[in-house]
Amino acid sequence: MPNYFLENPDLLTTFDRVVRWDEIVPLSEGKDADVADTVSTWREVLSVAGEYIGSEVAKRARQVDELGVIREGGTVSISAPLQENMKGLAELGLIGLSFPKDHGGSGLPFTVTAFVIEMLARACASTMIQNGIAYTAPAAMIFRDGSDEQKDKYLPALARGEISGAVAMTEPEAGSDVGNLSTTATQRDGCWIIDGRKQFISAGNGDFVIVLARSAEGSKGLEGLSLFVADRWVESAPGENAMGVQTTRPGKRENYKVERAEHKFTIRGSPTCSLVFEGTQAMPLGEIGQGWRGITRFMNESRIGVGIQGLGIAQAALVAAQDYAARRVQMDKPIREHPMIAEMLLEMETTVAGLRALIVEAAALQDAVMHGTDDSTAWRLRELTPLVKWYGSEEAVHTCRRALQIFGGYGVVTEYDVERHMRDALITPIYEGTSQIQSLMAVRDLMRSLLRKPQSLLSGGPSTTLARAKFDGDAGRDFAAARSTLVWTLRGLTTGLARKGGVSLLRGGRQPNDEELQPFMLNAERITETLAHIHVARALGEQAKRVPERAPLFARAARRAKLVAQRNAKEISAGDGGVFERIADWERDRTSRKSRQ
Ligand SMILES: Cc1cc2nc3c(=O)[nH]c(=O)nc-3n(C[C@H](O)[C@H](O)[C@H](O)COP(=O)(O)OP(=O)(O)OC[C@H]3O[C@@H](n4cnc5c(N)ncnc54)[C@H](O)[C@@H]3O)c2cc1C
Repeated sequence: MPNYFLENPDLLTTFDRVVRWDEIVPLSEGKDADVADTVSTWREVLSVAGEYIGSEVAKRARQVDELGVIREGGTVSISAPLQENMKGLAELGLIGLSFPKDHGGSGLPFTVTAFVIEMLARACASTMIQNGIAYTAPAAMIFRDGSDEQKDKYLPALARGEISGAVAMTEPEAGSDVGNLSTTATQRDGCWIIDGRKQFISAGNGDFVIVLARSAEGSKGLEGLSLFVADRWVESAPGENAMGVQTTRPGKRENYKVERAEHKFTIRGSPTCSLVFEGTQAMPLGEIGQGWRGITRFMNESRIGVGIQGLGIAQAALVAAQDYAARRVQMDKPIREHPMIAEMLLEMETTVAGLRALIVEAAALQDAVMHGTDDSTAWRLRELTPLVKWYGSEEAVHTCRRALQIFGGYGVVTEYDVERHMRDALITPIYEGTSQIQSLMAVRDLMRSLLRKPQSLLSGGPSTTLARAKFDGDAGRDFAAARSTLVWTLRGLTTGLARKGGVSLLRGGRQPNDEELQPFMLNAERITETLAHIHVARALGEQAKRVPERAPLFARAARRAKLVAQRNAKEISAGDGGVFERIADWERDRTSRKSRQ
């Protein structure tokens, strides 16, 4: 079994020659730290992690998938091989890598831990999500917003892997529409009590859960929300729990109920739980009323995490396809020598390297933001976050689909891992904000910049990062063509907006209304796809300036960005294809049914 760090040339080049460690090291280790010395220690940590993950975790991945979640005697638990993985990660100190040093962790920057997350996702997507959502995410939230008491209680035990948590936001009626949540938090006798139901909660069978609940009675939408920590087990008279069910722990009662774990075809080892809160005792996490702010920070971080998960899965599919295509002989030659297969392999390789380039950039921005930085860095991170999530997940699916095709009939056989990679990839465009939600976020921000500076449509466009990018040669011309096509597309949509009476918008007079924005919303995913490809090409282009061997990757990414931009521009200018008429029909239908009721 390979070392996933030392035996992945693109990952090693990224670590050794791409990342600006001189900028990262002072952030976490102080400005007097020895950069070379620190980086050599981090490299050693990643080598150890690569060895363990590439051998032990990868070896158990198929079993984790086959066994899925264990449901016995009304309880939900993770399987023995997944437990073994988590134990191994804890023993090596890998669970607590990103936790602060004075709370039982190693205090490593996100730029370093991103490598570990990618390797874990490559080996086993279920283990990666268990590590991320049961340990890292709750720890980050508690560290950011928790009291000293909460930090002391949870962080060291999480770092050692002794307890696990979860983050519960989604409800049966509140998925993408988080503001529709109805779980309440009320104060009774000086204690906060949670009532409601949460759905699809990863690792919800753990020891505690961070819950987003409505704490201001009568509030609506994203106002009046707060975060709370609820322990699964609390002290009580023996034998009885909050729902009147016999407990399985002496002297403890169950403070909320893990009702069930879903049966699913993707990340099968990860328990996706329904939780029921009835009179659940909880402690506020952070300030009351600041729940949306807290959960947004969690979501932004975990969206980059899902992008990295996509990268790890795509890397696994790429390596499997490269290996198979070199061995499988059809019509007297290895199938990789057939042009269509060769083209697929090159495209997959470019996608994986491009996604990694985008992620490394986002990770460095996140480290800068976490250590307090200027608004422009925070804005660049905000611009990249939905693109990392969108591109990481959509392209993971696309790459796995290609790998499956390259495997032919063997691709659908469970003996080979590509079918597992395909199944695991399919969760990434759904959780932590679907691809459509990422597209709406990306396009809304683009619109905001555009309305602030409409004159940018006469030059490089509203994204300052893209407008400033400049590259030489044919690849540079392809990049510039992709960017001009995007600007041309935005100009067309904006002219349409102005024609609809929105001229005052362009003068900064008011915000556009929903109807005026419809063409942007309809095309949000096309615009996002184009944007993501151009950013990927830009990120690889920047790398090629420092690592000349990356020039062919940049050239392929820039060419692809140009073609994607042109395809989407054509589709957008071809009009709405009757979508709005159909929506109007459905709206009329809904209104008339409502009036008949
Ligand atoms: C395996 C798994 C693990 C999960 N883990 C967690 C967890 O740990 N914690 C947690 O809180 N949640 C978790 N979730 C929930 C997850 O984040 C939601 O499933 C996701 O946000 C989508 O919500 P939904 O399923 O209700 O779909 P909906 O919001 O109902 O969306 C259905 C479809 O409509 C589209 N759509 C919705 N609104 C719009 C719009 N305005 N414009 C265009 N399209 C739109 C969506 O993109 C999607 O295609 C998990 C889900 C799964 C499946």
